[in-house]
Amino acid sequence: MLFSMKMRASKKVLGKDEHISGAERILEETSLEDSASLLIKRAISHTKGKPDFIQLKVEQLAEEKILHVNALAVSTAKTTSPEECYAFLVQKLLELDIVRGKEIVDLLLHTKSMRGAILLDVDSLVRLENDHERGVRVTYMDSRENFFPKDSKKNHFHEALVLATKVVNAPNIIGEICISDDPDYQTGYIASLRFGYVRLPKIKPLNYPYGGRIFLYRGKHLEVEKTIDFLEKMPVLVENIPPAPECAKEKVDANSYRNIYDKVATLKEKSLYRTLRTLHSPEGAFVVVEGKEKLLLASNSYLDLTFNNEVKEETTLAIKHYGTSSGGSRLTTGNFYLHEELEHDLSLFKGTEATLLFNTGYMANVGIISALFKNEKAVIFSDELNHASIIDGCKLSGQKIVVYKHNDMEDLEEKICLHAPKAGLILSDAVFSMEGDIANLPKIIALSKKYSLFSMIDEAHALGVIGKTGRGITEYFEDKYLLLAKEELTPDIYMGTLSKALASEGGFACGKKILIDYLRNTARSFIFSTALTPASVASARASLKILLKNPSLVTKLQENTRFFCHALETYGIVTKSDSAIVPILIGDEKRAQEISAWLFNEGIFLSAIRYPTVRRGKAILRVALMASHSHEDLLFAAKKIAEGLARFKNV
Ligand SMILES: *Cc1c(COP(=O)(O)O)cnc(C)c1O
Repeated sequence: MLFSMKMRASKKVLGKDEHISGAERILEETSLEDSASLLIKRAISHTKGKPDFIQLKVEQLAEEKILHVNALAVSTAKTTSPEECYAFLVQKLLELDIVRGKEIVDLLLHTKSMRGAILLDVDSLVRLENDHERGVRVTYMDSRENFFPKDSKKNHFHEALVLATKVVNAPNIIGEICISDDPDYQTGYIASLRFGYVRLPKIKPLNYPYGGRIFLYRGKHLEVEKTIDFLEKMPVLVENIPPAPECAKEKVDANSYRNIYDKVATLKEKSLYRTLRTLHSPEGAFVVVEGKEKLLLASNSYLDLTFNNEVKEETTLAIKHYGTSSGGSRLTTGNFYLHEELEHDLSLFKGTEATLLFNTGYMANVGIISALFKNEKAVIFSDELNHASIIDGCKLSGQKIVVYKHNDMEDLEEKICLHAPKAGLILSDAVFSMEGDIANLPKIIALSKKYSLFSMIDEAHALGVIGKTGRGITEYFEDKYLLLAKEELTPDIYMGTLSKALASEGGFACGKKILIDYLRNTARSFIFSTALTPASVASARASLKILLKNPSLVTKLQENTRFFCHALETYGIVTKSDSAIVPILIGDEKRAQEISAWLFNEGIFLSAIRYPTVRRGKAILRVALMASHSHEDLLFAAKKIAEGLARFKNV
C-alpha cells in the first residue's frame, strides 16, 4: 500500500505567510514514521529560517493509478556564470523550435517570489496558469530510490530531477526551465524529453534567495486543464534515477580527461610524443642509460665538469659551511656571501659592471625581458629561432613582439624601421640552441645603437664554448673583426646560464650597474623565488675557475667540432658549425626518431629534435660535443650516423 506524504513549512512575516520549505514523498506504510520525522527535521533546520507553521499531510494512493516513468538522462553544461547560463538556455530553447527564448529567459529571471511555476505558451508568451501569484504546483511524485530516505537533508538534484521528469511527461508540455530559490543551490536546469535534464552550474550567485520555473506549453489552450490536472494530481513514480550530482561532476572531469587522452594519442600518432630516459651514472662523455653504456652526444655539459674533482670538492665544502638551501629569496634571508662572490666573478669574466643571478636560465630570460619595459610601451624584436624561455619572457612582457627572420639583419632593420619604436629591444641567442649557428652580433649592436634600442644576447650555448678563451660571443667576434672596438661588440645585456658549460644550475644577467640595480628591484622571477642553493653557486664558481685556468679545455672542444664535421664529411654528410652543436638535417619527424632509436641501440645517445622545438618537417639529429670526447669516439659516432642515415631512407 502506498501513501503520499507532503510537508510544508512557513513563517508569518508582516502578516503574510512566507514559504520556508516543502517536500513530498510517495511511501510504503512501513516508512511513514521515519519519513515524517525526517521531513519535520528538514522543516525546522532550513537556511531560510525557523518556521512557525508546519503542515504534514498523509493520504493513501490508489496503486493502480500510479504512473511509472523513466528518469530523464542527465548531463551537465560547462557554464561558469549566470550570463553563460542565459545564453545556453536561449540556445537550448531554439532546439525546441522556440524562437522567443530571450524573452522567456527574461521572464524566468523576473519571477522572483512565485511559489509555483509559470505555465507559458512558448509561441504567444501568454501565461496559462489560473492564479498568476501562486502559479502551477506539481505534486504527487517521488522516485523508487526515495522510499527509505536516510537523512533530512535535501538532495536538490534528486528532487529536481523527479519533478522535471514528471513535468515533461505532462500533455502539451515540451520542456521546463528552472532556477532554484534555495540560497545555496546555484545549479539550474533545462529539461525536455528531447535532450533530457541538463544541469546549469552557476546560474545564480551564491546566497541569492530567488528562483523560478517555467513550464513550456505548446498546444491548444482548451487542453490546459488536462495539463494542470496531470501536474497537480497524477501520482508519478520516477524510476532509474541516475547517481547524484557528484557523479555528474565526475562526468565533467571525465570529459576533460578524455581531451587529455585524445591529445596524448595525437602526439603519439604524429611521432611527437616524448618519454624520459633514465641515467644511472654521472653526465660524461659516456653514460649508463637503462643499464648500458652509451657514447653521449647530447649533453649541454660542454666542458664535462659535472664530475670534476675540484668542482665536487668546492661544492661539498659549500654544503658543509652553508648547508643545503639558502632558505629565502635574495631580497629576504637568502643572500649569502657566496652569491655575491659568484656575481663578482661573472662580472669580471664578462667584462661588465655588474651581474644578477637567477635560479635558472629560463627564469633569467623570463625575469629580465618582462621587467625591462615596466610601465612603458616598447617593441621587442626577436629572432624566430630564439629559445623558448625568450619567447615566454616576451609573452609575459605584454609588449609588442616582432619576430624577424632567423639571423637576417636586413629583415630586422626593415622591421625596426616599420615599427620605429620609441623604446625597444633586440633579442637573440648567441649560439642558436638547435642549429648551433652564431648570431650576427656586430650588426645587432650596430642596429641597436642606430635606432636607440636595447640589445640582449642569450649566451647559454656560447659561454665556455666560443671565443678563444670561452668568454663567449664578444670574444668570438673580436677575433674575427680586429678593427672593431669593444663597445661595438658589447650588448646591453648578456644573459647566460650556469647549467651548461659551468656544470651547475642557475642563470644570470650581466650589464651596467644601473641596469642590474633595476632588475634586482623589478624582475619577478628574481624577487619571488628562493635563492640558489650554496651547492649550485659553489659548483658554478669552481667550474668558472677551472675554465679560466684551463683555456685548453675550450680549445679542445672547438677542435672536436672541426674534427667531427670533417669526419661526417668523409661520409658525404655536410654540416658546418662554429659552436659545439652540430645539426644533421633529417626532415621527417618519424625518420629522425627511428634513426636516433637505432643509434641508441648501437651505443650512441643523441637527440632527435622535432616540432615544436624546430619547425614541422625540419627534424634534426642534434649532436652536442664535449671537450672530453676523444677522436676515436667521434670517428665511431660519424660512422654510425652515416650507417643510420643509409638504413632509414627518406620516404
Ligand atoms: C638552456 C637554455 C636556456 C635555459 O637555461 P636553463 O638554465 O636550462 O634554464 C635559455 N636559453 C637558451 C638559449 C638555452 O639553450
